[in-house]
Amino acid sequence: MTLDVAWAVDWVRRSAATVDEHRDELVELDRQIGDGDHGENLARGFRAVVAKLDALEAPPATIGDVLRLVATTLMSTVGGAAGPLYGTAFLRASKVGSAAALDRDGVVGLLEAALDGIVTRGRAGAGEKTMVDAWTPAVAAAVDAADHGAPPSQVLAAAARGAQAGADATVPLVATKGRASYLGERSAGHLDPGARSSALILAAAAEAAA
Ligand code: ADP
Ligand code: MG
Ligand code: MG
Repeated sequence: MTLDVAWAVDWVRRSAATVDEHRDELVELDRQIGDGDHGENLARGFRAVVAKLDALEAPPATIGDVLRLVATTLMSTVGGAAGPLYGTAFLRASKVGSAAALDRDGVVGLLEAALDGIVTRGRAGAGEKTMVDAWTPAVAAAVDAADHGAPPSQVLAAAARGAQAGADATVPLVATKGRASYLGERSAGHLDPGARSSALILAAAAEAAA
């Protein structure tokens, strides 16, 4: 059981749809502890990604090609913190996804690469109330599922559940990175918008594989 380029395309389209569907929620979360642009930024970015996919003359050949297109488009269309962070995540992931198909270890490697990109770019550790707090438990859950012999679809489902649990767990945290850190203690009591959008994007990955 492996995931192929059709999965990657479906993941991207589902990400665009879910980010659009949850745009107002993400805007509201970012309004509470940031500047309120996260939903709009991401929705614009993924709309641009879908437009580029639709405009391709030939379908993308590899998972890596799809993820590289996502990376470069998000970097150039999404402002603020999230653009470069997601851009770097997808760029790193694209290097793992250059194989024709991903088995369970390939999926884990892709998620690890994405998290590594986010950490390299943003220098946040776990517990700083950022998207790292969604991706870290997502990777841990994926590793655990793969160790138990789960197929790629189940590895992604586990990652999605881990990401949402991690996002929910950002509520009591005090932000020490990004705009929300300007609020200090007052950032506690709110869900981090980037952690929530990360959970949505990983849920889209799992749905595309289901
Ligand atoms: P901005 O804050 O510049 O307006 P966005 O609203 O698009 O950018 O994104 C905010 C999200 O970016 C936060 O909710 C958080 O998850 C994430 N973020 C901010 N800074 C960092 C960082 N240094 N490392 C990881 N994630 C970060
Ligand atoms: Mg913002
Ligand atoms: Mg902003």
